[in-house]
Amino acid sequence: MNQIIIHVDMDAFYASVETRDNPSLRGKPLIIGSLPGERGVVATCSYEARKFGVHSAMNIKEAYRLCPQGIYMHPNFEKYKAVSNQLHNIWDDYSTASETIALDEAYLDVTKTARTFDGARKIALTIKKRTLDELGLSCSVGVAYSKTAAKTASEENKPNGYFEIENKEAFVNLMIDRDVRALYTVGAKTAEKLYAAGINTVRDIQQNREKVIGLLGKQGYRLSQLSLGIDNRRVVPYLPQNAKSISRELTFQEDVSDDELVKDVMLLLALCVQRRAERYELYGKGVTLKITYSDMKNITRSKLVLACENAMDIYREAVKLFDQTQKRPIRLIGVGIYNLSHEGARQLSLDDFLDSPQSSSEEELNSELNRLGNKYHLDFYGHLDDIYKHETLHKTAEYMRKHN
Ligand SMILES: [Mg+2]
Repeated sequence: MNQIIIHVDMDAFYASVETRDNPSLRGKPLIIGSLPGERGVVATCSYEARKFGVHSAMNIKEAYRLCPQGIYMHPNFEKYKAVSNQLHNIWDDYSTASETIALDEAYLDVTKTARTFDGARKIALTIKKRTLDELGLSCSVGVAYSKTAAKTASEENKPNGYFEIENKEAFVNLMIDRDVRALYTVGAKTAEKLYAAGINTVRDIQQNREKVIGLLGKQGYRLSQLSLGIDNRRVVPYLPQNAKSISRELTFQEDVSDDELVKDVMLLLALCVQRRAERYELYGKGVTLKITYSDMKNITRSKLVLACENAMDIYREAVKLFDQTQKRPIRLIGVGIYNLSHEGARQLSLDDFLDSPQSSSEEELNSELNRLGNKYHLDFYGHLDDIYKHETLHKTAEYMRKHN
């Protein structure tokens, strides 16, 4: 199947975060990394510093020689990680899988969420707008049919860029007369080998594919494929390291005393948790419930279970935990899974070979969504894809609270 992939890359990420938080740095050459006099390199620098020839990975001594008037700062990784999490929250709203490359850079698989290239363009522009509106930061975004093309596209109009490469032909047209180094997997060493063999441009690679494979082996094969625009790699999601649980919580705008309403919202939270688990192909073998009461007192309850195969399993277990708690006005409700594993509890059974259209849990889920739809006069089916978005989830819960 054809893929549609977005590559997002923040512009001068560390420097932009620092400038955002300290406007007196605006418009100045800002260099994040080591300080002059220390041993070390430039991690990121502002575009004003780049005008002096300073760039990432440059020795700090050299940077200082080029730009003595620059402002030098140590990186504040805890802060950048927190911003990175906020970025992921935005990105995850629009993709079925995201592959993190760095704190500020990721591939997003939008094949199913966008459906068409037009749809992907809308998503890309929405991501740019939300990143600016909500986080005060700018990014460059590329939309394309492959990972390489998406990465190439996001580089094309940096900073604050947008570019799209719809198919192989468009990629080849764009790249054919460029230096081999324009293929972003080609580093300085590889380029030297290619130049020495008289291969200078992407066209040269395309016309000398056997030679390039002979010269570089496996990498040569990849380059020869790229020179034809071919790159079928998938977006491979991975769970952030050390993640031990997946959860979703919601704070009501006003405290809620109606248990049935809280449970209905728990179903939506379970759906969100399940979607995230699916993204990483993980199953939870434990369910957690978190409640903050109106007096700010917190409780957490958890329980080991066989394995949650779907949202209904998570919801049912969370409701059992909920039913054992005190009945008091609730400010925040959270549902989660833990004890994560890549294996579900269920082995292949005869049912899997018979043509049973839906599992009973799925049927139950559908009837629950129908019930909610009737109760709150909301079309949950029609908005199921939307409900995973933080903003929509909050709006929906508030709507349910007011129309209860
Ligand atoms: Mg970046």
